[in-house]
Amino acid sequence: MERPSTNNQQPTTNFETIAVRTQTERTQFDEHSTPLYLTSSFIFEDAEDMRASFAEEKEKNLYSRFSNPNVTEFIDKIKLMEGAEAGYAFATGMAAIYSTFAALLSAGDHIVSCQSVFGSTHTLFTKYFPKWNINTTYFKAENSETIEDLIQPNTKILYLETPTNPAIEVLDLEAMGKIAKKHNLIFIVDNCFATPYLQQPIKYGADIVVHSATKLIDGQGRVLAGVAVGKADLIREIYLFARNTGPAMSPFNAWVLSKSLETLALRVDKHCENALKVAEFLESHPNVELVKYPFLKSHPNYEIAKKQMKLGGSIVAFEVKGGIEGGRNFLNKIKMCSLSANLGDTRTIVTHPASTTHSKLSDEERNEVGITAGLVRCSVGLENVEDIIADLKQALD
Ligand SMILES: *Cc1c(COP(=O)(O)O)cnc(C)c1O
Repeated sequence: MERPSTNNQQPTTNFETIAVRTQTERTQFDEHSTPLYLTSSFIFEDAEDMRASFAEEKEKNLYSRFSNPNVTEFIDKIKLMEGAEAGYAFATGMAAIYSTFAALLSAGDHIVSCQSVFGSTHTLFTKYFPKWNINTTYFKAENSETIEDLIQPNTKILYLETPTNPAIEVLDLEAMGKIAKKHNLIFIVDNCFATPYLQQPIKYGADIVVHSATKLIDGQGRVLAGVAVGKADLIREIYLFARNTGPAMSPFNAWVLSKSLETLALRVDKHCENALKVAEFLESHPNVELVKYPFLKSHPNYEIAKKQMKLGGSIVAFEVKGGIEGGRNFLNKIKMCSLSANLGDTRTIVTHPASTTHSKLSDEERNEVGITAGLVRCSVGLENVEDIIADLKQALD
């Protein structure tokens, strides 16, 4: 890739230092914080400089659809945090996911995917990819030992999210990595819910990690963004697809996100501390039937979560008594927390999938993807946890 990399990467694998100290080369002004490079293109000294740059004989920014110093800084941080060789950043998480598949697949290829994936990813698999004769077979999180039976001669990709949205199931990355390797599949993980601070799928054999950086990576509900990192040869294909089709991240968003990453560890630590307390409170409440949080002992995949995640994450799912109406009543009584479609924000957000995002499905179809009638998803924020619990308690009481 022709883009120049950041020059003052620290010789460390410590997450917090990488997040703070990975920085684009300083300009002649010796600024401390990285400036914003709002420029669509870059200039060349002469015809030879231009030729060599386009021929990728030298590392140089050419045009901000291909690379830009702010975007590069953001990519380099995520790349180091995930332990990846290379990366490319996108305007949204869906642009990252779509471009990854579109770059790596051909007509006739087959995907094996976990059934509970992000809604728009599910729509890509069921509505759009079949138009190009790319088909997907789903497995359920609880039957992941049957994946090998689903692999066909034309299967090219094994895809999953963990923890899943909104049912908060946890899949065993090590076991999945081994299956992908054995069958020579490209193993892709959407690591959005965990972030690289809690879990690094590449350690378990993931070839590509994708993120919606809109969520915890920004963490402050300001920008939409996505990123894909992983093996250099695969990222090269994704990069070439993206530079020609145009889903690039804006330099402004990259500048915001690079700053966001400096506090990712701090924020995620606190999100997880609050989320565990919220989960424990919910488990003790008589109007709650079931609580799903990876670091609760009652979670069916508690042991796997403990093995692969540093902490339990920021999302708690729980079942309010009273079905659809119970869930709707609970949302109507909430006072402080936000009713919003986002997650991973500083503000606590509650949603009721059965009456909103998944309202068009039948009860049976919803149960199929782990969404029961009274299921509430709570993205636990950074308010004082006593205030979060007090709001949830008054709505449940
Ligand atoms: C939000 C989300 C996406 C899509 O990201 P956008 O930035 O909204 O395009 C993909 N995967 C997961 C798990 C998400 O939560």
